[in-house]
Amino acid sequence: MATTHAQKRAATETHHDSPRGKPALRVLSLGAGVQSSTLLLLAVEGAIPRFDAAIFADTGWEPREVYAHLDRMEQTAARVGIPILRVSTGNLRTDLLNPTRPSAYLPLFVRNPDGTRGLLARQCTHNYKIRPIKAKIRELLGYPHPRRVPPGVFAEQAIGISLEEIHRAKDADVRYLRNVFPLLNLGWTRADCHAVLTAKGWPDVPKSACLGCPFHGNTAWRRIRDTDPDAWAELLDFDAAIRHGLPRTRAMGRPPRGTFYLHRSCRPLAQASLDDDTHTADPDGCSPWSCRNGSAEQSPPATEPAPATPAPAQADQVRPGAARREGETR
Ligand code: SF4
Repeated sequence: MATTHAQKRAATETHHDSPRGKPALRVLSLGAGVQSSTLLLLAVEGAIPRFDAAIFADTGWEPREVYAHLDRMEQTAARVGIPILRVSTGNLRTDLLNPTRPSAYLPLFVRNPDGTRGLLARQCTHNYKIRPIKAKIRELLGYPHPRRVPPGVFAEQAIGISLEEIHRAKDADVRYLRNVFPLLNLGWTRADCHAVLTAKGWPDVPKSACLGCPFHGNTAWRRIRDTDPDAWAELLDFDAAIRHGLPRTRAMGRPPRGTFYLHRSCRPLAQASLDDDTHTADPDGCSPWSCRNGSAEQSPPATEPAPATPAPAQADQVRPGAARREGETR
């Protein structure tokens, strides 16, 4: 795998000695998961430079324990004057069900008319996380869209990527943002982060991801089903409502091709086998800049030996290259 510029820089540069000019602003991209919560804690304790703000992109569809964790972080960060700014484009769930409001495609699983399976292209992370974060940073810099940010004016954005995820460290795609990766500079793994969080009294940092994220493994689906009956009932309703396409697509008169599902088995959530050992592994939470892709879920369970030879392709395997938009001709 080619090493990116961001990865090389993360390996050599510290948070203090950027040779590329002084940032007008230091922000933390707060996904509210283990790694970014660790960065917030380190900044609160003065172990890394303080942030001017931490920014959380709220899809409005997070589990209640994530919102409770955010409240807890808000109180802790306030002690040293780091505001946690919650930014939002809207409520992803209600927008998706609204036939008159453009929203974004979820990576829904699709059963095609010919029986094969596919996956819708994902737009939710960009529209509901990345876009509002960028808008807030431009606003904080004093150059809200459409004002042009002058050359040399930039915000330093800390992203919580730990050592085992170094391949996810990427440069920002806009000039007014420069990404830094303090956990990589420290050489910390996810386990190191867990240890610090536990020692500081936060052993229970939840995974941040939308309640209805199709990339959930069975573990996550079961957790919602068994601990939050209201959220589960809402998910069953949502799953049924998108079976024949998003309401907006239907309202636009674009006939859906196939049927759509939250669960990767392409079965209604109410009927999917959530209690067996398939699709059990859960991907990490959905952070804006290193979002989940379901790859952990696609791996065989840890207890299952890898096949000696590749299994023959099955008609209903999800093909990674089969991502498409709802209503799109394949
Ligand atoms: S958690 Fe899933 S549904 Fe939510 S923004 Fe990330 S990929 Fe999309």
